[in-house]
Amino acid sequence: MTPDTASQLIDAPFEELAVEAGKIRDRSFGNRITYSPKVFIPLTMLCRDRCGYCTFAKAPARVEHPYLEIDEVLAIARAGADQGCSEALFTLGERPELRYEVAAQWLEERGYGSTVEYLAAAAAAVLEQTGLLPHLNAGALHHDELASLRPVSASQGMMLESIRDDLEAHRLAPDKTPERRLATLDAAGVLGIPFTTGLLVGIGENRQDRIAALEAIADSARLHGHIQEVIIQNFLPKPGTLMAASPAATLDEIRWTIAVARLLLPHSVHLQAPPNLVDDPTILIEAGIDDFGGVSPVTVDHVNPERAWPEVRNLRKVTEATGFTLAPRLTIYPEFALDPERWLDPAMRTPVLVSMDSEGLCRDSAWCSGGEVEPPKLLGHESSPTSRLSGAVAEVLAGFELGQDLGFDEIVTLFSARGPEVVAVCEVADELRRSVVGDDVTYVINRNINYTNVCTFKCRFCAFSKGPLSLNLRGDPYLLDLDEVTARVAEAEQEGATEVCLQGGIHPSFDGDYYLDVLDAVSRGSDKIHIHAFSALEVFEGARRSGMTLTEYLSALKARGLKTLPGTAAEILDDEVRAVLCPDKINTEQWLEVHETAHSVGLRSNVTMMFGAIEQPASWARHLLATREVQARTGGFTEFVPLSFVHMATPMFIRGMARRGPTFREALLLHAVGRLAYRGSIHNIQVSWVKLGAAGSAQVLQAGANDLGGTLMDENISRAAGAAHGQRMETADLEEIVRPLDRPLVQRTTLYGRP
Ligand code: SF4
Repeated sequence: MTPDTASQLIDAPFEELAVEAGKIRDRSFGNRITYSPKVFIPLTMLCRDRCGYCTFAKAPARVEHPYLEIDEVLAIARAGADQGCSEALFTLGERPELRYEVAAQWLEERGYGSTVEYLAAAAAAVLEQTGLLPHLNAGALHHDELASLRPVSASQGMMLESIRDDLEAHRLAPDKTPERRLATLDAAGVLGIPFTTGLLVGIGENRQDRIAALEAIADSARLHGHIQEVIIQNFLPKPGTLMAASPAATLDEIRWTIAVARLLLPHSVHLQAPPNLVDDPTILIEAGIDDFGGVSPVTVDHVNPERAWPEVRNLRKVTEATGFTLAPRLTIYPEFALDPERWLDPAMRTPVLVSMDSEGLCRDSAWCSGGEVEPPKLLGHESSPTSRLSGAVAEVLAGFELGQDLGFDEIVTLFSARGPEVVAVCEVADELRRSVVGDDVTYVINRNINYTNVCTFKCRFCAFSKGPLSLNLRGDPYLLDLDEVTARVAEAEQEGATEVCLQGGIHPSFDGDYYLDVLDAVSRGSDKIHIHAFSALEVFEGARRSGMTLTEYLSALKARGLKTLPGTAAEILDDEVRAVLCPDKINTEQWLEVHETAHSVGLRSNVTMMFGAIEQPASWARHLLATREVQARTGGFTEFVPLSFVHMATPMFIRGMARRGPTFREALLLHAVGRLAYRGSIHNIQVSWVKLGAAGSAQVLQAGANDLGGTLMDENISRAAGAAHGQRMETADLEEIVRPLDRPLVQRTTLYGRP
């Protein structure tokens, strides 16, 4: 930067800087402000440095023990985990063992050569025993020290503070020289460590110095791409410190520095200011931040203990009042979490994966699909006046209401909705549902018959299938004989079922005739019952094994009584994702071809989507658009059935390759956005009570869904994956779900007629 440009920045009116900073922030991160739910773990309050403003560091006589014991560390971390925190922020003094004998001795007695070595052990214990992701702030470290912490942390950090080397505040702090700290910054970059740094405003530096410091950070960020966030923290004088009589950083300086940081840093770098150090956090948003940093429901801010954290509920209100949304994040930012090979040690990839949602942000509740935890109540949000919404989601909804169809970008945007935006998307979807299919909540009485769980395919998400020899997972391999199929059909009909739903694994002994024989077996049990059977994979394999074309084979199935095809085996219709989920299964084109051909011979079918294992919202958009194109040609799809991934017992989760299914926000949005994306195309949106439970289903029925699917009698596939919800629902149970909604529960046929 030329001296002229610097002086222009120094003298520019804040309002002008803020407008530009706001534009950059909005372009880069939209209207989302993040924060990290965390606990602070002050591993040691001893420090070899004596900074003029610091109350964190204490003399040995003023602390009970030089370091927290591992048990104490774990107790803090567990309290945080219980309160929904995802980050364990280790704060500590710099190399106290070099100044205090008592510290060196404490470490030696426990077999640690240094504070950094002990920090690695403590972080490993937290990670292993609580699942919280460690963020390590160990000060100015050397390359090998940073490297030793990488396998036990999701991110690391060190405040640059200032680039001035003559500050009185740092006179007694050998680790605070700019050279040491810039060297640490670069070493972290070389090691590919997602790194947090920042400035301390008001410790004797001036605007020119801050510009120089920001430029140094920007250079390192451009060189390595590793600076995930920059913190602009303001100095507050504290009694008992060398700078007790110095003035606090003024609001003008804080706001100016935030805005200038936004202008000078690469636009991908997040900008944070702590909300507890100012009286009104909205000024931070106005100046250009997109992150509030760590907010702890458990521990105080150990660096500024006199300033309490705002409650997240209040922070949310303040944020939403400015037209922004508030979202929890992990200590590692999404851009880094979603690129784990580059940014995470192999040991950290699974812990990060299981902590995150589809956008790489923090899961927002303990709920998971198929589990027993009640979902968060996302509708009826306390501060959800949708008229105040601004930002991309509001724009897409406005366009939709004017009649524009949703394309790829619009769909992805809607999946990013948070807070009141979620409410708005669901309200528009619910209104569309009302106008398309009315208030009836429909269901079908049916029976699931999974005729075999033996399968030659190797879908990594499937806990149901067994290879003939794989007795290690739940349940034994079985193959029902056809008389048993007949008996189950007859029994289902006696119990009032109007539909049987048949699907199973691809048994190595099956030939193309097997599926025809199954249809005959069903017909022997009932000549009236609707046969809803065979995934696209089964049809594809049946045709292949009989040497027939799809048209010939589907016509033969239809002639033997098949009426509709379930949409299963679609998983995610995005081949990059399928290559991981189910590498040897039919691809997107083949799934679509089976269904389009089925429609062409007079069979109907539905669209399913198994979501929440590994993919991002872009894949959901591709799936919706690909099926919408087929529907535009054939009109053969009867409904869309989002199937949230039930992770517990699946091979890919057990091997650390999958998330814990979708968050409830994602599940809710999948139904709502599905309703909107299929406007004028697919009229019924089904919620799977097996995956979402009664409370989850009730919310989804207010977000565009109109159908509760089948009563099932013997649901095996989700239960094999670990779902806790029952194997069948009685009509009375479904009535319980629907009653509070004040909508009629109506039995339907498979094709949405009335029985
Ligand atoms: S999902 Fe279907 S094809 Fe894949 S392994 Fe399971 S049973 Fe087999």
